[in-house]
Amino acid sequence: MNLFKEKRAKALNSYYKSKGNNSIETSVTDKVVMALGTMKDVLVDVVQCGEIKASESLISDRTEICTVCDEFLRDKKKCKVCGWYMELKIPLKAAKCPIDKW
Ligand code: SF4
Repeated sequence: MNLFKEKRAKALNSYYKSKGNNSIETSVTDKVVMALGTMKDVLVDVVQCGEIKASESLISDRTEICTVCDEFLRDKKKCKVCGWYMELKIPLKAAKCPIDKW
């Protein structure tokens, strides 16, 4: 398992452990590594198919899911778990929800 996948798995584990006490323990380091993992996946998309933008229907589906997610900070438009601004992350085809909601 590579470092990016390990961090994502750790975030997922933290999420499920924290369910019930409403706090998610993902460190800044974990968020940075997850962001780097997403950027690596985006670069792979560019190299393999020259395309980084998700389809409009995928963007719409992801937006719908994030909008009602408990981990979405509506005032900052950020995900609490991965730390990304969702307006930037959702359109990236290779992006993944850190807790596998999309
Ligand atoms: S990326 Fe996942 S965890 Fe973050 S706000 Fe969206 S659905 Fe929730």
